[in-house]
Amino acid sequence: MMPSMERLLIAGILGGTFDPPHVGHLALARIALASGLVDRAWLVPCLRHPLGKEPAPFEDRVAMCRLLVQGEPAMDVLEIEREIDGPGRTLDLVNALRAAHPNVALRLLAGSDIWHERHLWHRYDEVARLAPPIFVRREGAPPIAEPCLDAPPLVSSSELRAILARGERPAGLAPEPVLAYIEAHGLYGCKP
Ligand code: ATP
Repeated sequence: MMPSMERLLIAGILGGTFDPPHVGHLALARIALASGLVDRAWLVPCLRHPLGKEPAPFEDRVAMCRLLVQGEPAMDVLEIEREIDGPGRTLDLVNALRAAHPNVALRLLAGSDIWHERHLWHRYDEVARLAPPIFVRREGAPPIAEPCLDAPPLVSSSELRAILARGERPAGLAPEPVLAYIEAHGLYGCKP
């Protein structure tokens, strides 16, 4: 039989708290797709915050991620963390995705700040073997000893939360539909 000439689909896993999602996440996924290293970007909101901080409800973060990737044909939002319902280890996520999508080659997408935290991960080497990471430079993070794609804009979920908590509107830091969702649902101290 002739070997199949079909190339495996390559998906980049962008895991995060997305509390809330912002233009930095969107730019990261776009930069990874534009590099040609991945065919799809999968946004995977975690169920709980890895450091025990209480984020907005999972359903709201999923809904906001869906609004973030509206009109982005190569991006998907995966709710697989709900099914895993574990301590939020990336290795568990990668293994669950491998089982659910056996014909997809996986890469990890992450900002360069994550590289400095890799020693805290459960079996980072195994994660990196199963889903070799692609790092995107994060403005303000120290340099890393690995290749890095271009940096998305300097923005973080914490910055958005801080602006919203002051009763201001973080215009331009998240797409309008995400901001409208935050306001309509009274998240992060907004008055609905
Ligand atoms: P917080 O401010 O609450 O810590 P965050 O903005 O870092 O949140 P996360 O959802 O924790 O957002 O990030 C998910 C992933 O996106 C991580 O890999 C992180 O490095 C990356 N990321 C987020 N914002 C940027 C950015 N502006 N530039 C580069 N990478 C980013």
